[in-house]
Amino acid sequence: MIKTEKIYYDDLYLTTCIATVVEVSEMGIVCDQTVAFPEGGGQQADKGCFLIEDNFKQRLKILFFNVKKGVGDVFLEQDFPTISVNTPIYHYIEVEYLRYFKVGMKVKICIDVERRARLTISHTAIHLVLMAIDRVRKGIITYVKGADIREDLARLDFFIHDKLNDDEIMKITECVNELILNDYKIETYAHVKQKEAVYWKCLDYVCACGGTHLPSTKYIGNVRITKKSKGKNLQRITIEFPNHVLPMELYHKD
Ligand SMILES: [Zn+2]
Repeated sequence: MIKTEKIYYDDLYLTTCIATVVEVSEMGIVCDQTVAFPEGGGQQADKGCFLIEDNFKQRLKILFFNVKKGVGDVFLEQDFPTISVNTPIYHYIEVEYLRYFKVGMKVKICIDVERRARLTISHTAIHLVLMAIDRVRKGIITYVKGADIREDLARLDFFIHDKLNDDEIMKITECVNELILNDYKIETYAHVKQKEAVYWKCLDYVCACGGTHLPSTKYIGNVRITKKSKGKNLQRITIEFPNHVLPMELYHKD
């Protein structure tokens, strides 16, 4: 079975790598390794490009517009949510450019670093909101139906009958902004049996999450949180972070 070495589990801030193409299909390009983060857990995927030599005549830059995990092994442990590991990673490109790729060729993979940085801020903001919600209304995070993590905002949908009210939203916002202001350290570490099974930790709050994360909370700036009813038992929380600072100093090319 084809699998891709996920370099981001060793170095989340590496933005380029040299890789060997192992599969070319209409689903996209699979390489032996990649720095490109696939969509997952509601977080949108990286975008970026391949740099390739076309028979050593010209250097081509071919964009990939999405990245997805393929089918792999199931990691099944009692102390961790079930996840798929040892998967291939598909980089989606326009089909007309597939002809430039051959199995065995070397390519350079480069991600759009600013997009990654924004998605990372967005993703971290959602973690802090979940921490704050758990303080304001204990247990409600088990009702999260879905998350949507984009560059400019993040959304959380809850299956909830007794919806969060204005006062609770204000308390959650204050709590998140205090967490940001204190610039608390964020740690990630792998499960003892699987490096792709990652825990996220801030203060005493620990959860399973293999997304992209900041090393501390300050980069988010502050958050603005709004709520919207999406039906009888469905509530949407939207998180914006207009004063974020991109942590560009963390990223490196090699
Ligand atoms: Zn996360």
